[in-house]
Amino acid sequence: MKYSVPVLSLYFILVIILITGCTKYAKDGHMKQPGIALTFDDDRIDNWYQYLPFLDSFGVKATFYVCKYNRFTPEQKQKLSVIQNHGHEIAFHSLNHYNMPDYVYKYKYTLDELINNEVVAGLNLMNRDGFYPVTFAYPYGAHNDIIDKKLMRYFKSVRALNGTSDFAKSLAPTQKNDLLFGLGIDKSSKRTDESVLQLIKSAADNSNCAIFVAHDINTSIKLSVTKERLRKMFTHVNQLGLQYYTISEISN
Ligand SMILES: [Zn+2]
Repeated sequence: MKYSVPVLSLYFILVIILITGCTKYAKDGHMKQPGIALTFDDDRIDNWYQYLPFLDSFGVKATFYVCKYNRFTPEQKQKLSVIQNHGHEIAFHSLNHYNMPDYVYKYKYTLDELINNEVVAGLNLMNRDGFYPVTFAYPYGAHNDIIDKKLMRYFKSVRALNGTSDFAKSLAPTQKNDLLFGLGIDKSSKRTDESVLQLIKSAADNSNCAIFVAHDINTSIKLSVTKERLRKMFTHVNQLGLQYYTISEISN
């Protein structure tokens, strides 16, 4: 049977639509530019501030998830502002650093009390000083679906921790993520430099963004990442031509 010209054109158009549709889908599933997102948690402003020149020297843009803002001194607030002005993201890590599921299910506060006491109250204090966090990290990484959903009304994404040996869980596949799992790189994580560098390589190979979590930079406590490890990571990132993402840049 012979096809008429209009039928053939229609077929041709249909094929084009399918091809462009597929291509678009593939792009959505990967980062345009692979990279890493380095995050720091808690309230160690003085320590982070001290290492700003070190981060700058490698062109690093990081995300600092801040808690206990109500205890910051005016000088620490000033330092936080300087950190932000260096291109880093100031994000939120709750007000008092409670385990959020425990707050509700063990200590019997309502979900609304949790949000008001630990989120809204802290955000208000920060907003008053010109900080507007749009992403959140859970204290201790403790979370569940119900709290995730509730927090999505306030934040573009929430970050938990990757407590598994499945490192791929810490690879964000697109630039529009709402739940992220950071891989711990502090001394307490007991991870080797090789395994950390391998995740960076995987991000490059798969066009993803690798998410890392640390606390202090180069102090004696266990929740601290060594300067040597950071230097190895940054050198690897820069050699592979990866980009540094802040968390809001890869959030929904
Ligand atoms: Zn924390």
